[in-house]
Order: sequence, then C-alpha cells, then structure tokens
Amino acid sequence: MAHDSMLKFVDRPQAYPAKRQADVRAEDFAEIAARYAPPTAEDQAGRCSQCGVPYCSVHCPLHNHIPDWLRLTAEGRLREAYELSNATSTMPEICGRICPQDRLCEGNCVIEFTGHGAVTIGSVEKFITDTAWEEGWVEPLVAGPARGQSVAVIGAGPAGLTAAEYLRGHGYDVHVYDRHDRAGGLLTYGIPGFKLEKPVVMRRVERLKAGGIVFHEGFGVGEHASLDDLRQRHDAVLIATGVYKARALDVAGGDDERVVAALDFLIASNRKGFGDAVPAFDGGSLNAEGKHVVVIGGGDTAMDCVRTAIRQGAASVKCLYRRDRTNMPGSQREVTNAEEEGAEFVWLSAPAAFDADGTVRARRMRLGAPDASGRRAPEADPSGDFTLHADLVVKALGFDAEDLPALFGAPELGVSRWGTVLVDGKTLMTSLDGVFAAGDIVRGASLVVWAIRDGRDVAATMHKWLKAKVKAARVAA
Ligand code: FAD
Ligand code: SF4
Ligand code: SF4
Repeated sequence: MAHDSMLKFVDRPQAYPAKRQADVRAEDFAEIAARYAPPTAEDQAGRCSQCGVPYCSVHCPLHNHIPDWLRLTAEGRLREAYELSNATSTMPEICGRICPQDRLCEGNCVIEFTGHGAVTIGSVEKFITDTAWEEGWVEPLVAGPARGQSVAVIGAGPAGLTAAEYLRGHGYDVHVYDRHDRAGGLLTYGIPGFKLEKPVVMRRVERLKAGGIVFHEGFGVGEHASLDDLRQRHDAVLIATGVYKARALDVAGGDDERVVAALDFLIASNRKGFGDAVPAFDGGSLNAEGKHVVVIGGGDTAMDCVRTAIRQGAASVKCLYRRDRTNMPGSQREVTNAEEEGAEFVWLSAPAAFDADGTVRARRMRLGAPDASGRRAPEADPSGDFTLHADLVVKALGFDAEDLPALFGAPELGVSRWGTVLVDGKTLMTSLDGVFAAGDIVRGASLVVWAIRDGRDVAATMHKWLKAKVKAARVAA
C-alpha cells in the first residue's frame, strides 16, 4: 500500500551525502562523506516505491527489511527503523558504509532501472544506526540464561564476531581467539579509515566484551594452541579465520625490497592510525611518503592501497591492472574516488620486471575470449612494453587460504584444492565433529556482508547442534 511520505522518486532527485572535496580528504584518513542531516535522510528514504517484491532485499545477502525501514525513516520513526534494521544485521552501520551497494541492494533497486537513480539505501542504513548509537538506542548485549556450554570462535572478523554475538545471546560462554592484538579482523586492520573509521568498529567490539564474550587477543591458533586443544576446552569450535595468504607475483625482481604485500602496507597504515609504533613504517619501507608508487591489481584492496598511498603523501600513484575499467573486479565508485584524489589508472597493463634502479617494465595487454569466470581473459598485446619508475610497488593480487590443516595440527580437517575449509551445506560443520566454519575461510575472499550472513547462519546451526548434544548426553545418562 502506498504511503503519502513514499514514492517520491520522480520529484525528488537521488542525493548521496556530500563527499568532502578531494584535495581536502586526501590529507587525512577520515571518512570521505558526511552523514545525512535528518531531513535529507527522511527525504531520500521517501523515494522508495515500496515494491511488493523488493529486489533490493532479495539481493542483500542479509535480506534486510529494506522497504520497511525506509518507510519508517521517511515517517520520522527512526527508533523503530533502527530496531527493524538491527533485527537482521549485527553491523548495519558498517554495511551501510562499505557494502558495494551498486552491486547489491542499490544495483537492484527498480528505481535505478527507471532512470531516476536508486534509493540511497546504504547511506540511509548508516544514518539510522549511527543515530541509534548517538541516541543510546543500541541495547547492551544480554546473554541468554546460562547453558553451561562453551564455544571457541577462532577469528574476530565480521563472521566470528557475528556468530559470537548470537551464540552469547543464546546463553553460551563464548571465547574469541584472534592472533591480532585488536579484534575486528579486516574491519580493523585491512579496510582503511577513509572507508570505515575505526571507532565505528571498536564500539561494536566493546559492546560484545561488555556482554561477557571473552576475547583472547594476540592468541594464534597453531601457535599458542592447536585446534585439538580448543576442542578439548570447548563444546564446539568455529573457524572464522579469513584468508590471508597473498598471491605471488611471479616476475623478475618480484622479491625486491621495494615490492611489498598489500596487507602489510595497509596494516602498517591502520596501526599508525591507532597510534602504534610501527618500525617498518617509520623506517620507510611501508610508507609511501614522497615516493613514486605503483600498485598492481584491480580489486578493492588495490583501490585501498592507491588511496592510502595518496594520503601518505606519495609523489605519484599509478595503478596497473591487466584488464580494462569495465572488466575490473573492484567497485567503480572506488575508482572514481581514487581518480578524484589524484590516482592514475594504467588499464590493460601488467608488470613484467622490477629492475634494481627503480624501473618497472610493464607489458601492454588486450582482452581475449571470456575465461571460466565469464570475464574476457587478458593476453599480451604485441604492441610492446613500456617502462615507468617506482620507489614502492604494492602487490594487491588477492588472497588465498593458509594451509590450516598444517597450521592447526589437524590433518583430518577437510579443505578444498584452494585451501578453503569444506563444510556440510546444511549443518555448516567441517569434517571434524563439533568444528564449524564460516566467512572468507569457507567462501574465499568475499565481502563483509557475506561474512555477517555466514556468522548468523552458523550460529543457528551450532545452537541446534549444541542443544542436541545436551539432549543426547541426558538420554545416555
Ligand atoms: P577476517 O575479517 O579476515 O577476520 C579473520 C580473523 O581471523 C582476523 O582477525 C585474523 O587475525 C584471525 N585469524 C586468522 N588466522 C588465525 C589464527 N590462526 N589464530 C587466531 N586468529 C586467526 N568487503 C566489503 O564488503 N567492503 C569493502 O569495502 C571491503 N574492503 C576490503 C579491503 C581490503 C584491503 C580487504 C583485504 C578486504 C576487503 N573486504 C571488503 C573484504 C572483507 O574485509 C572480508 O570479506 C571480511 O572481512 C571477511 O570476514 P571474516 O570474518 O571471514 O575474516
Ligand atoms: Fe545494502 Fe549491504 Fe545494507 Fe544489505 S547490508 S541493505 S546489501 S548496504
Ligand atoms: Fe524501494 Fe528500490 Fe527496494 Fe523497491 S527496490 S522497495 S524502490 S528500495
């Protein structure tokens, strides 16, 4: 049913929150866009046509109740909008900031196809929950009645944190183990502050700590304990370790000290943002200041490296990618942001060698027939090579899973040929009884919103399994 406050997409143009001027935002690591002022959020939410079959929700991995919380926002009923938005997501304000909405909810909004521009779903989602935090509507995490069973979660990224939150809500003792000294996974140490300011992540972590979830930070499984140790200590275990093995760059000079891995570069930068001492940054090897920087890759990690280098005061930043702009995996929105901030994209090019004098020899590429992924495969273009200069080269070629069976001392843990952990499609349990897995370590490198979805799903299957375990023990007694 139509509401007076809705269906305004014809008269009311699409408006995202204004971005800060490119030269100003390139000076710091603060988020690039301000938040909506309340009337604008309400106006923009009112553009929604309240579809009977909302394709926005269908294409949101969490199946968020988007039209409903847009309507409540348009009506000024923000607290109810928050409660509804929070019912399906553990981190709506984080998804509102960093989901690639153009490929998910907004990319499938019917209004986009009418030529009026999608409803700005992500920005409204961010506005709702940021407001909820400020107004004190975000409730503390309350543990359910104690069940006397405990769960280990390995990995404090969005998959692990989401599962931990739901399991604590069910009344389990939850212990989260992470090898980093701060929780959050890639939210904390991968994604830069200009996309996701760190206090936004830390207030989520603090809420979980206050709710009784025990965090063991600086605790590497495989280093400080084996998987079997955790299975002895807990009733169930969740593996949510993400994927961290950087793909290699197999070209001459690829092991030169000027060539660094994307995540090392981003972690160093994020640590500086926290005020940590980072010798490799202070010593210059992971710092782009004053340098000619070349970033290799075309995904979101490459975009983050490009934009981080600009903020560190690089003399120039070029991004080499072997396909063209249309066929790149990264978000077009991020490319535009990077270009506005001064990055140069050298499409259809791949490195061939890094010479000791700082010369990068690069090969021109062209697109051939589509490969297995459906994208046109790059191949060397006979038109020849070219050179450019780099004082720092950042490799952002994607990530694979580490060898977890070896690391965890658990050779019987089933993994795919890519090293991702195999789970039963229904129970989400691995080949080991009572050991579950979720997030990037199951899917391969993916998105935060999918990690949250997996965390939500695995918490439900673990709860079912743990209840059955108690029942079976009672029957046996
Ligand atoms: P992670 O976030 O990787 O967390 C895994 C955790 O496990 C880490 O804290 C790690 O320290 C811990 N761990 C690993 N091994 C061990 C061990 N042996 N013992 C103890 N702890 C361990 N997605 C988006 O949706 N939007 C974006 O804009 C976006 N930008 C990105 C930018 C970068 C640079 C990168 C690398 C990724 C980006 N992603 C983005 C992808 C997204 O961050 C991941 O898909 C998501 O974080 C996966 O969540 P996860 O919980 O599975 O794993
Ligand atoms: Fe869109 Fe992501 Fe929010 Fe879903 S979680 S509504 S895909 S921004
Ligand atoms: Fe509203 Fe667009 Fe979703 Fe339809 S698809 S309900 S118009 S946000």
